[in-house]
Amino acid sequence: MFDAAQALHRVGVVVDAPQHSGLWGPLDYLCDRPLVAGDLVRVPLGKRVVTGVVWRGSEEAVGDEAQAFDASQLKAVTEVLDGLPPLSAAWRQLVQFAASYYQRSLGEMALMVLPPELRQLDAVQWARRIKRRDKTLGGDARSTDEGAALDAEPPRLPELTEQQSQALAQIAAMADSQQGCDKPFLLWGSTGSGKTEVYLRQAQRAMDAGQQVLMMVPEINLTPQLEARVAERFAGRRIVSLHSGLTPAQRLRNWLMAQGGHADVVLGTRLSVFTPLPRLGLIVVDEEHDPSYKQQDGARYSARDLAVYRARLEKVPVILGSATPSLESWYNALPVSEGGVGRYVRLDMPARVGDGAMPQVKVVDLSRAPRGAHGQEPPPLARELLQAITQRVERGEQSLVLLNRRGYAPVLHCSDCGWKSGCPHCSAWRVFHKVDRTLRCHHCGLSERVPRACPDCGNTDISSVGRGTERLEEQLAEALPGARVGRIDADVTKHKGALEAQLASVHAGEVDVLVGTQMVAKGHDFRRITLVAAVNPDAALFASDFRAAERQFALLLQAAGRAGRDAGVAAGSEMWVQTHHPVHPLYDALRRYDYADFAAQQLKERAMAGLPPYASLAMLRAEGKTQEAAQAFLLEAAQAVQHLADATGLVSLYPPVPTPVQRVANVERAQLMIEASQRAALQRLLVAAQPIWLALAQKNRRNGLIRWAVDVDPLAI
Ligand code: ADP
Ligand code: ZN
Ligand code: ZN
Repeated sequence: MFDAAQALHRVGVVVDAPQHSGLWGPLDYLCDRPLVAGDLVRVPLGKRVVTGVVWRGSEEAVGDEAQAFDASQLKAVTEVLDGLPPLSAAWRQLVQFAASYYQRSLGEMALMVLPPELRQLDAVQWARRIKRRDKTLGGDARSTDEGAALDAEPPRLPELTEQQSQALAQIAAMADSQQGCDKPFLLWGSTGSGKTEVYLRQAQRAMDAGQQVLMMVPEINLTPQLEARVAERFAGRRIVSLHSGLTPAQRLRNWLMAQGGHADVVLGTRLSVFTPLPRLGLIVVDEEHDPSYKQQDGARYSARDLAVYRARLEKVPVILGSATPSLESWYNALPVSEGGVGRYVRLDMPARVGDGAMPQVKVVDLSRAPRGAHGQEPPPLARELLQAITQRVERGEQSLVLLNRRGYAPVLHCSDCGWKSGCPHCSAWRVFHKVDRTLRCHHCGLSERVPRACPDCGNTDISSVGRGTERLEEQLAEALPGARVGRIDADVTKHKGALEAQLASVHAGEVDVLVGTQMVAKGHDFRRITLVAAVNPDAALFASDFRAAERQFALLLQAAGRAGRDAGVAAGSEMWVQTHHPVHPLYDALRRYDYADFAAQQLKERAMAGLPPYASLAMLRAEGKTQEAAQAFLLEAAQAVQHLADATGLVSLYPPVPTPVQRVANVERAQLMIEASQRAALQRLLVAAQPIWLALAQKNRRNGLIRWAVDVDPLAI
């Protein structure tokens, strides 16, 4: 603490100010010592003291403003958080870009991407953390100081396949070229083609050159697996993870390791894209198509897109890996001669390592399957599929049955009066969970005991409609007497450690048939699964969301990749799809594992419809006490900027509509799509619109508007 009267230096500090405060840039404060951009400070804000980041150091000029300033008008910095090198210019540039591109205030973005604990600490607590870090560093045998890393026994490396060598050679050639590496790599490799080995080799090269590596995976569940693999390969190196599953203390500690340049590899989920890394030399985005890379609330950033931006900014290679790239990345990597833009370099690895073929795809035509006796529900699995699974059970092999709906039944129904288990607060059904006999709303979380009788007419005969994983598990256990049926979904795994335990029992061969949601289709390295079945994948074919088909194809292909991973069992492995539309082009492409063909179909449709990647989208979203309130704001917002859109001739504003689930927890939601044929035109419009919309929102708040936000490059429309 010090006296404001003695303070001489003026600094610009960003603090976490909400969007509606209208505060977009740094606030001026005084400090009794010079500070540089990137220093961390605590400053008074209203009645509180908050953490902030110095954005304009005391030596930097403030544009036209006179050098002299009225010190009596400014508040003093409360304290400085010492002990860290200042956050780098590259880090600040990344944050600045993200804030501006995703239409958030600088302070919100900057503070959001710092470890949560860091935002809470005062200078005394902070000093303690720094001391603890130094102690860890001092006492750690794995220090990256000379020599230490070399003591570890070198791991045995597999001999690279032809494809892997070629991919690595191409990366090396470009990364080492005089021009530097200005193009992202799209590593397009089948599941099991050895993409991870490519990441690891390139990571080794970076570390040999004294650099740090950032490796991203879409989900927390996948980090331990990759962490084990990376740790095994790079014994002697310091590897830290960063994701929301860590305790605040762990997250801060790992972040400090990365920021100080002590960690060699950072493994993380989307939030790790913002990790300050002074020696950054490589960024990897595994499963780059995965929707989890896009944040779905607050600052709705895409970590994959920011990774590409960051790589260019810091002149380091970035590898985007996938068997089924996002159509955006695919288009970017498609040569101009094939209708693409050739902005990325594509590296192809079509073959699986060893002689592991992809499983044979079997499409079951449900439209011709015998129906159950009149009014009766057909069994969950077609007869031939059930037989195939039975054979697997008898042979001691495992099967994976996918259904993307958890719970027992998606809705309960009274056949007397027509009552259905709707949620009183949402425009959605409440799902029946048999384990604890509850009706649960998956949108607002409302959970109640199942009524004994129909709440409307008293009929005691209420029945389930449809099927979720819980019921499928029950039905399969009945249909496959003697088989051990297990289940993995968000309900089973909500307790810490439950997923690991369940996966371990699958690996140990204690489960014959595993029922699961998309959660199990991703990344897991099951060795003994020889059959994968998608029970009900049709919904995605007719969804209103234009990305539904893309996502479904990726999911099915990834699911198929779970089968036959052991060369010994690969030969007889199968991927089953039950469908009412067996000749649909999506299944046709899947049969041949022809992603390129599927992507071509999709791109054609997108081009005709004027959708990404041929157009840029933003969604203006509003929540209100009533649907009218939400839509009224959107309509006014559109009218207020219509002239700006017209002036560009490149931007269209669509009418407001309710969102697909329009009411959640008694809040009505609506959205308005903005489409532009040029990204830059969209950005200019949004920047100009911000202050106009802020003012409009203030006014509309009185009329029932609760919240609003812009979602740039939305995943769902
Ligand atoms: P992907 O990430 O493309 O799905 P992985 O990198 O997980 O594929 O590789 C699949 C399996 O093949 C892993 O068990 C991995 O250890 C093994 N593998 C990868 N590259 C090689 C290689 N060159 N020689 C032998 N085995 C390999
Ligand atoms: Zn009833
Ligand atoms: Zn609800």
